[in-house]
Amino acid sequence: MIKKGEPLDRGDLGLLATALVLAHLPDVDLVPITVYGFSAVKMFHQAYTHNMAFCLISSLIASLLASVIRKKPFMHYFPFFSLLVFSHILLDAMGHDTNPPIGVQLLWPLSSSYFLFPVHLFIGVAKSTARELFSLWNLMAVLVELIVFLPIVGVIRVLNQKRWLERMQEET
Ligand SMILES: [Zn+2]
Repeated sequence: MIKKGEPLDRGDLGLLATALVLAHLPDVDLVPITVYGFSAVKMFHQAYTHNMAFCLISSLIASLLASVIRKKPFMHYFPFFSLLVFSHILLDAMGHDTNPPIGVQLLWPLSSSYFLFPVHLFIGVAKSTARELFSLWNLMAVLVELIVFLPIVGVIRVLNQKRWLERMQEET
């Protein structure tokens, strides 16, 4: 695992790369845009890859691969990996979504209903056209997400530093 003050080894970098991929993996459903254009957003986005089944299957596969490659127990990875994928789906359900389909198909294939939180934490990303995708609105959406998450990252960093200092004092 990654430890403060020690350089990252190849395995740590692989774990970080895996975490980045898993956190964004549900948006793989935007790839059909390259074939069908932006009409694919209405056809595929926030459906088949934004649900509990996809979260479970992708986390299982990633955890199995990581446990075999890094020779560690499956459960060393599965909670972290499934949380990464699920957090993406949950955060998409917290955004202000005005482009159909609205929300995420959280329980697909058990239910085809779309789920969206009634209170929107984020302003939502516009994605109906290429012009919308690279708009000032979306830049503002990124800024809002940074405003929400940077304090959380800061608190985690302070708590980690405090825990690391306590551990160092116990060792000396
Ligand atoms: Zn998404």
